[in-house]
Amino acid sequence: MLSSSAQCLCGAVKITASNINPKLTACHCESCRLWGGGAFLAVRCGTEIALEGEEHISHYDSSAWASRGFCSTCGTHLFYKLKKTGEYNLSAGLFPQVKEFRMDMQYFSDQRPEHYCFSNETKHLSRAEILEYFATQN
Ligand SMILES: [Zn+2]
Ligand SMILES: [Zn+2]
Repeated sequence: MLSSSAQCLCGAVKITASNINPKLTACHCESCRLWGGGAFLAVRCGTEIALEGEEHISHYDSSAWASRGFCSTCGTHLFYKLKKTGEYNLSAGLFPQVKEFRMDMQYFSDQRPEHYCFSNETKHLSRAEILEYFATQN
């Protein structure tokens, strides 16, 4: 596990994550692509997160099981947060200084559009597999 600090584009929000899993995940779901223009690349950080400037974070309630956080000043996408466990998936782009990230998993692989693909060797989860997983979490 890694520890690192991060900040949004404008610096209003600062995040310190002390338990970063370096296995990067890519999500191809329609919500992530609509949110950010392409796959959302994230790292799982558990609940050990310290936030500064929390008043600048806007939360969007994006599904029954998760919300998305972004800086209300500069719009930087910060995290995807699971409601049930409170776990944060922080945007991998917040940590340009970390060199240990390796893409490990692609979510909603069957929803990836044809106009891009990653050549990384990873595991894949389809939409059906993910929905089944979340169904067992509730
Ligand atoms: Zn900002
Ligand atoms: Zn997604």
